[in-house]
Amino acid sequence: MANNRTLTMIKPDAIEQGNTGAIIQKITNSGFKIIALKLTKLTTEQAAEFYGIHKGKKFYDELIDFMISGPIIAAILEKKNAVDDFRALIGATVDPAEGTIRNLFASSVTQNAVHGSDSDENANIECAFHFNENEIIDY
Ligand code: GDP
Ligand code: MG
Repeated sequence: MANNRTLTMIKPDAIEQGNTGAIIQKITNSGFKIIALKLTKLTTEQAAEFYGIHKGKKFYDELIDFMISGPIIAAILEKKNAVDDFRALIGATVDPAEGTIRNLFASSVTQNAVHGSDSDENANIECAFHFNENEIIDY
């Protein structure tokens, strides 16, 4: 289904700092429905595949080291206009706006608490990266 699903990851910093519950509360309070959810720990190979587009950038090694440093929570979120609305909820990569999830919970530009897909095309790819069809619940 186009335009109504996005993939999020609650990143290792947020889990380590005990912010998982507060982040999920903000997500559901903002009208997103969780239709798939798992705690997992990325391997180096998985992190490199997920962030392959950033290979060669100056922050790449730091990003991969961070993303494998502890567990993550992956979730598929459903809402009309999910990708854009979720990017607005999490805030920009650099200088996230007041009240956004990254503004509230990020510790640095890299350790920024949450991921959100940046396009419908990438949402489809990223949802399939983390979940099989039988892990997605229609309710
Ligand atoms: P996002 O879509 O907002 O998550 O940002 P990007 O796709 O551009 O980058 C992926 C992730 O790499 C970000 O969420 C950050 O964790 C990290 N990152 C991006 N840009 C920078 C940067 O300029 N410096 C550092 N240190 N980390 C960055
Ligand atoms: Mg991105």
